[in-house]
Amino acid sequence: MPEPIHYRIRPHRPEAHLYEVELTIAGPADEQVLSLPAWIPGSYMIRDFAKNIVTLTASDDRGDVAVQKLDKQTWRCAGARGTLFVRYEVYAWDLSVRSAHLDGTHGYFNGTSVFLRVHGRDEVPCTVELLPPPGDAFSDWRVATTLPRGGAELYGFGGYHAADYDELIDHPVEMGRFTLVRFQAAGIPHEMALTGRHRADTERLAADLKKICEYHASLFGPPPVDRYLFQTMVVGEGYGGLEHRSSCSLMCSRDDLPLPGREKSTDRYRNFLGLCSHEYFHTWNVKRIKPAAFQPFDLSREVNTSLLWAFEGITAYYDDLGVKRAGLISEQEYLETLGQTITRVLRNPGRFKQSVSESSFDAWTKFYKQDENAPNAIVSYYVKGALAALGLDLSIRSGTAGERSLDDVMRALWQRYGKPGVGLTEENIESLIEEISGLTLKPYLDLALRGTEELPLAEILASFGIRLTLRPAESADDKGGTPPARETPPSVALGIRTAADPAGVRIATVLDGSPAQTAGLSAGDIIVAVGALRATKETMEALLAAFEPGDRVEIHAFRRDELHVFTLTAAPPPADTAYLTVDEEAGETAARLRKDWLA
Ligand code: ZN
Repeated sequence: MPEPIHYRIRPHRPEAHLYEVELTIAGPADEQVLSLPAWIPGSYMIRDFAKNIVTLTASDDRGDVAVQKLDKQTWRCAGARGTLFVRYEVYAWDLSVRSAHLDGTHGYFNGTSVFLRVHGRDEVPCTVELLPPPGDAFSDWRVATTLPRGGAELYGFGGYHAADYDELIDHPVEMGRFTLVRFQAAGIPHEMALTGRHRADTERLAADLKKICEYHASLFGPPPVDRYLFQTMVVGEGYGGLEHRSSCSLMCSRDDLPLPGREKSTDRYRNFLGLCSHEYFHTWNVKRIKPAAFQPFDLSREVNTSLLWAFEGITAYYDDLGVKRAGLISEQEYLETLGQTITRVLRNPGRFKQSVSESSFDAWTKFYKQDENAPNAIVSYYVKGALAALGLDLSIRSGTAGERSLDDVMRALWQRYGKPGVGLTEENIESLIEEISGLTLKPYLDLALRGTEELPLAEILASFGIRLTLRPAESADDKGGTPPARETPPSVALGIRTAADPAGVRIATVLDGSPAQTAGLSAGDIIVAVGALRATKETMEALLAAFEPGDRVEIHAFRRDELHVFTLTAAPPPADTAYLTVDEEAGETAARLRKDWLA
């Protein structure tokens, strides 16, 4: 085995958002090829991280080595003898969980943004020397990463290592002045590092996260890690998460976090717990139980799989369910969340055009590159995938009188695929579902995964004593999940999504088949008057309330700088908002099934 590849990385000019990396390769190939990934696992979009490499030079023991750029992300160093040294600077100013960020307050990076891959040596161990920024001002910076330590102290700068390139790029690094929250779950040390300004109740966070982690560990068995880290960037407004093998990177708003002395959980905090639960579940589902197409990852180009519904949809199903089963939300609160999930699917006509299998396959160009027509053209493999998983779980439970469930399928996936590292195909997972449940579920799977018709959720939920009711949306902010609250709901709807604009009401999306579309309104148009009265985002609802279905409504709107008049025929709002209620009359069997499901 060749000597380890050595990376030395230093945030050498925080004010210019620049990391300096020095790569040392002993005994390089004659024509040593190096490249940076085009995408990061877990986020299925070509991001071309190499565009942030500002300068790159190479040398060996004798002097400079010629470097030739082969394509947007690949370099070739020719004729190096002895040891090849490659020095490069990486610009890091993307505050997201997917790339790298650096300023005088903290540094964060994913290996996919900063560590060049040494072609021909993917399996060679790597050593990393992490250095602080130069100067006394940074002497109190610490490091939060699950990259295995090789000499560095816990939370310290210094030596780290990885078994191979795949591991090297799967432990993002946070450095700076973060708050550490520590707890044990399933006998394993867990931490959350909170970066950014906040006043969070860290004891509460530790107690709640512990329950969630222990719930997932009770489902699969102890997490296959020595230590687990939630890296959390706290900002004014932001939301996101990305899973890694023994950590996850999160971004949240400081308003998502619980404040000391407040017992009640806010909706935003419940949402944040759902995000933590989601990323933690990925420790098994996608980081270890993974599609055959991802073994190994080809990070130079798009890799298609029709299975993202299983990795993201099932994970999205278990995220809130995990928070419920951990005892952090009530049955009522869980059903409210589920009603909102159903509503999100029902609001988009794209569900009649694309299946979750197709949505998975085309994630790169459709789900990750959504435009104004996305609600009409695509379905989310997360949201509809979660409903497909719900229907599957409940079908197994009712079909086996509660003897089996999706939990058993997940455990079998872990034992047979995740633990031994065997890649999963569509056929594998579907035959496993039928084997574990002992049921013929192919018709359901055809409908839920490859079909574009509505899922029979009302019927499935009824066996659990849960009534699914649909009603029209009561306002633009109505996310669903709750029964109607207004005595006089809106009488008509245009079928548009809008965004605030100083000039009027900007149309973000015109829904397919809506009155607005029939009348000729388009995304980007700015509505300035309804019924010859000035329209703003605030007055829109009141202006429309003057009309009844069948009325002719005159709408003035700008398309670019041209004013147009559109006349549409008012139609009643669609019943696209769902809520769930417990039917106490449904009988004992239903009540028992429901209790087993949510306990
Ligand atoms: Zn996910």
